[in-house]
Amino acid sequence: MIGVTVLGATGSIGVSTLDVLARHPDRFRAVALTANTDAERLAEQCRRHRPRYAVMVDPEAARRLGELLADMPGRPEILTGVEGLEQVSALPEVGYVMAAIVGAAGLRPTLAAARAGKRVLLANKESLVVAGALLMQAVADSGAELLPIDSEHNAIFQCLPPNFSDGLERVGVRRILLTASGGPFRDWPLERLSSVTPEQACAHPTWDMGRKISVDSATMMNKGLEVIEACWLFGTDTDHVQVVVHPQSVIHSLVQYEDGSVLAQLGNPDMRTPIAHAMGWPERIDSGVTPLDLFAVARLDFQEPDFARFPCLRLAFESARAGGTAPAVLNAANEIAVAAFLERRIDFPGIAAVVEGTLEALPRESVEGQGLEFLLDVDRRAREQAERLVQAQAG
Ligand code: NAD
Ligand code: MG
Repeated sequence: MIGVTVLGATGSIGVSTLDVLARHPDRFRAVALTANTDAERLAEQCRRHRPRYAVMVDPEAARRLGELLADMPGRPEILTGVEGLEQVSALPEVGYVMAAIVGAAGLRPTLAAARAGKRVLLANKESLVVAGALLMQAVADSGAELLPIDSEHNAIFQCLPPNFSDGLERVGVRRILLTASGGPFRDWPLERLSSVTPEQACAHPTWDMGRKISVDSATMMNKGLEVIEACWLFGTDTDHVQVVVHPQSVIHSLVQYEDGSVLAQLGNPDMRTPIAHAMGWPERIDSGVTPLDLFAVARLDFQEPDFARFPCLRLAFESARAGGTAPAVLNAANEIAVAAFLERRIDFPGIAAVVEGTLEALPRESVEGQGLEFLLDVDRRAREQAERLVQAQAG
């Protein structure tokens, strides 16, 4: 029986993870569930999955969770704060940690899981963008397993040979083809983008996701973050990653080999497939996903990405090439800008403007030999700078 911690249990990925987990009671048991503020939902999940620990990051919400679970026999021990997240990521009775917190807030517990040698099921791409070198080193040092949950990276993992970490060139890979839906505004007239509302940005054409990643998909910052994620996961660089716009989201990504072969992974757009893949690996287990009907799909389209329409994608490529602290600054500025857009403080094109302005204001620094505290400080400074730019735009 494998003990599982689900970081971000109340979110979109967290809920899908618990769905897969509950299909295999002979294989997995929930040891710890965590959330930020949603005590009601976490309480429901605790009653259903009976974990030993529940973490509410917010202390007020933790008190509320305690009240909600007061009458539950065998109720979980309630922890709070980032320390609580780190603690349940490193418990001896836990084998797998689903890293499904949104944003750089997921970094500390994800790193704790990697340092403790767990199988890390990585949905939280931001932690790799902010601290790729640190996280990959922690995995290598502890012997942890890092399995991608992001559907594209999970697809690439499935299309690569088992010894891919010897180097993509050595295993005959020419390049990675990272697919992107292009989001809801792929075909909108450019001049209409300034009128986009949060509701429109969050209504993704093919995937049902949390609000932050939905906005990231609409700006294509999500694909930019994923390019950086792919470089770390597969030990490559941006010259070997091609973004391919594929509106149907049926091909989840492809790998092109030296001999002319291109391998792809296909499926319905449902995150339970990559989740079940990573939880079962190397075995295949049921995910509850409807089998793909190619006759219903009928056609698959492909386009080149439009960097003029999607400046966030360009900024992410530039940050990836610059390296050092640039990806961490990009990510922090984007988190502030997206939150400001969702609060209607800036308009949709303002997101890219805040990110670009923050990158210009904070010179790139080396991360060579730097630890977590340095990166968290970069993250904090970038947030402060981005917030100043938001205020300038909003004012
Ligand atoms: P979501 O907003 O639905 O859920 C986020 C979860 O994180 C919630 O449980 C919330 O309580 C928790 N959380 C938020 N802020 C926190 C904080 N400061 N401290 C601790 N916990 C906090 O997000 P999601 O769509 O499930 O995405 C989660 C992660 O997975 C993101 O990194 C996203 O990029 C990635 N991802 C999501 C999808 C998807 O289909 N939803 C696909 C690929 C990758
Ligand atoms: Mg993805």
